[in-house]
Amino acid sequence: MTEKLYYKDAYIREFTATVISSTECDGGYDTVLDRTAFFPEEGGQSCDRGIIGAASVSYVYERDGVVHHITDEPLTLGKVSCALDFESRFDKMQCHTAEHILCGIIHKRHGLENVGFHIGDDEVTFDVSSPLSREELLAVEDIANEVVFRNLEVETFFPTPEELPALNYRAKLELTEGVRLVKVGDVDLCACCAPHVSRTGEIGLIKILEVMNHRGGMRIWMVAGKRALTDYRIKYDNIRRISAILSIPQHETAKALTEYVSATEELKAQLKATRRALAESKADTVTLTDGNAVFLFPDFGTEELRSFVNAALPKVSGILVALSGRDGDYKYLIASNSVNLTAEIKNINQALLGRGGGKPNAVQGSFASTLTDIRAYFNV
Ligand SMILES: [Zn+2]
Repeated sequence: MTEKLYYKDAYIREFTATVISSTECDGGYDTVLDRTAFFPEEGGQSCDRGIIGAASVSYVYERDGVVHHITDEPLTLGKVSCALDFESRFDKMQCHTAEHILCGIIHKRHGLENVGFHIGDDEVTFDVSSPLSREELLAVEDIANEVVFRNLEVETFFPTPEELPALNYRAKLELTEGVRLVKVGDVDLCACCAPHVSRTGEIGLIKILEVMNHRGGMRIWMVAGKRALTDYRIKYDNIRRISAILSIPQHETAKALTEYVSATEELKAQLKATRRALAESKADTVTLTDGNAVFLFPDFGTEELRSFVNAALPKVSGILVALSGRDGDYKYLIASNSVNLTAEIKNINQALLGRGGGKPNAVQGSFASTLTDIRAYFNV
């Protein structure tokens, strides 16, 4: 069994230990020490990283009481100096203790259980057994931040098997021995093996972000401490820029942007209708013909070509070719009421460096040839 220094003191950044084994494995070397401050991946929390001697630690896991460190180099047996990436560890201590506070409050006020927890490098989520309203969550968030301002003590202890049954704690275990309880002032008592801050004031801001209904309950995204500051910076910078672009005070950007998007959608619809009317007006100028006809509208999009073809086709007895683009790069829409185009399009594409296809009365695609060649092919 590895001696777990993180149980005794969550603030150990550097320590010495003895390397017991270091053997090649998938992804590096599996290194076991007699004692460690590296917290393994456990209970939804990602593991600590850092260095053992000159080797980097990329992953830490526990099996049967032994903590294994995956290092990028083998280590010689004997004494070694170790150091944690403590910035990352402290960030998780802040987020993790904040999660205890939020879940403790939700348990006390609403009687809900914590049914899932994940603390990774990018996001922190926890799941509760039933959904809460936005107002309820805001109240929970207020109380959680008051707990931070009160700077309460966070204690950890191992009650005796005699003491344990009398204790009312969250995440109750079947075990009667070796249960580690974490007590956050009068706010929460919970079984947990991870490192926590020693006073709630160290957590800094606690902020609930998104929520999502999940398996009959609710998944809640949150940030705390340094992560909350980073999150605030990113969001503040975005709001500041949106505010400047719209020339609107920061607290009115959502309303202004909603109006802007709605106005833009209306303009898009108007533009579409205008383009269709323009395409149809081009069709008005087409004269009746018994043969084929080729028309070029360099700047038309697919929808405008379609509007034109639909309106002009009754006037063309042969094949109607509508093009947009320029020599070497034409988009085509070809239609006919008398010729089966699915049978014909292979020959057309072969002759005019084209690709595309469609239905018997309409095909679409592209030509890499010139307008002169296209006209010549269709005899117009
Ligand atoms: Zn915990």
